Amino acid sequence: MTADLKHLNCPHPLVLSEEQFSKKLVKTISRLYFFTLLTVSIGTCFALYQDWNMRMNDAKSHLVRSAKMGNLLVETALASAEKSLETTQSTFTKALQSGPVDQLLANQLLNMCYSKFTTYNKADVFGLLFFVDAQGFLYAKNGNMTNEKIDFSDRFYFYELRDHSEIKRTVGPLVFARTTNQWVFHMSVPVQDRDGKFAGVLVQQISVADISKKLLEYVDTSNFEQMVTHLVGNDASFVFPPPGAAQSPKKEFLQAIKSQSTPLETGGGILNWNGGKHGLSDHMLIGVAKSPAYSLETYVTFPSSKVRHEFWLGNMYFLSYMFLGFIFSTAIFYYLHNLSKQLVNAQVASLYDALTHIHNRRALDETLPVLLRESMRSQEPLSVLFIDIDHFRFFNENYGHESGDIALKAVAQVIASCASRPLDFVCRWGGEEFVIVLPKTNRLAAMQIAQEILLKVREIQLQSNDGQQPRITVSVGHATSVITSIPTQEDLVDEADKAMLKAKSQGRNQCVEYVAND
Ligand code: GH3
Ligand code: MG
Ligand code: MG
Repeated sequence: MTADLKHLNCPHPLVLSEEQFSKKLVKTISRLYFFTLLTVSIGTCFALYQDWNMRMNDAKSHLVRSAKMGNLLVETALASAEKSLETTQSTFTKALQSGPVDQLLANQLLNMCYSKFTTYNKADVFGLLFFVDAQGFLYAKNGNMTNEKIDFSDRFYFYELRDHSEIKRTVGPLVFARTTNQWVFHMSVPVQDRDGKFAGVLVQQISVADISKKLLEYVDTSNFEQMVTHLVGNDASFVFPPPGAAQSPKKEFLQAIKSQSTPLETGGGILNWNGGKHGLSDHMLIGVAKSPAYSLETYVTFPSSKVRHEFWLGNMYFLSYMFLGFIFSTAIFYYLHNLSKQLVNAQVASLYDALTHIHNRRALDETLPVLLRESMRSQEPLSVLFIDIDHFRFFNENYGHESGDIALKAVAQVIASCASRPLDFVCRWGGEEFVIVLPKTNRLAAMQIAQEILLKVREIQLQSNDGQQPRITVSVGHATSVITSIPTQEDLVDEADKAMLKAKSQGRNQCVEYVAND
């Protein structure tokens, strides 16, 4: 007969510890994984943050350095031009003292002054040195004689000095030279005749292309969006490289810079400027340099999007490696997780009984010596209960092996519920036999627990599909001892076993205490 049994008054069902172990393991490994991930993520963010700062600082210092270099080159050119003009001016003034200077003499004087000056200033970046007469016409220039009648009366460097006798020198603005077809700016000084009347202006042309060429020797300008040297109060701007189709001085840019609420440092500094509003790149870093000698300011602009672009480009490999590392470590953790799960399962399987979910005899072999030693150390009594189900063969024959298994589980649960203190140890000895080890338990307490087991096993309510309600009883033998020397672990178990056999022989369904020499 295969009657499926139901255990009606089941105490708390026993769960195989494997599941608990696995859950703990998954939790521990997950925590470890997330902690590793978090640490690596924080490390990555920190490294990226440092790199970004470094790139920004590099860009900023490069900009300021470049701005200073641009300023310095223009300043040097202006200083040289000023010296050249000073010499030429005094030569011309002296010549004019002795009467009018004709074009031939003027040409000779200019050539003399120019060659004298350039002999000692080979590196300077000059264009023409020329004289414009009081009417604004080109009178003489260095090099060959000129008969061209070019009108310069509309040039700033001419009318400014003609109309304002108090002005001793003008600089700029940037113009496209009619004589040399180049982008140039000029420094000019007035010349007076012997009566102190305005006789014309001496002009030193300065080639922007030459300054740019020099600048390129010192500074990598390839990434600059705009480099503007600006003469404060004159609206004159020199742009490097010289204005072509792509690069031209932006008035809005200078105006915007001027209207900056943040005052710029004199030595140089960085502005964060929204150029998008002014037709330039959105966010710009602007390197600023100022030199008070000629009221020069140089601005070098660099869109911060370029720094961003280079930042991502530069960190592409790093991020790719991090991503691969992430995938790789995830795979390793997953593998470790599975492996340790298998190990736990194997470990649990070796120590637990698969049917009843309580410990097996192997676990007893490992635990009993520990409990015996502990009992010997504390000199407290230790009790062992040996339990055997009565007429279980008969039960199996009557209700079937499967029902027998259910009954076995029910008995295991009852026994486990009766010995539930943390140090109590319950195991399936084998077949339908169980062993309980009760540390710190004297014979009376052991007897009580044995009685409780007898009672609770009798109370197990089983019901088969066909309505039968089989009852189970057990025989319990118990032995108690205060351990004085480590006996072989079977001693106490043997004694409890013998007592159990005695209970069997006395009619079963009872507990018997082991008595020596009995
Ligand atoms: P006694 O009262 O003298 O103990 O009689 P008994 O029939 O219980 O005798 P014994 O202890 O020798 O019988 C053991 C029986 O327990 C044999 C076997 O049918 C049954 N048994 C052992 N292990 C299992 C098991 O895992 N499942 C089931 N269903 N039965 C088992
Ligand atoms: Mg037996
Ligand atoms: Mg039996």
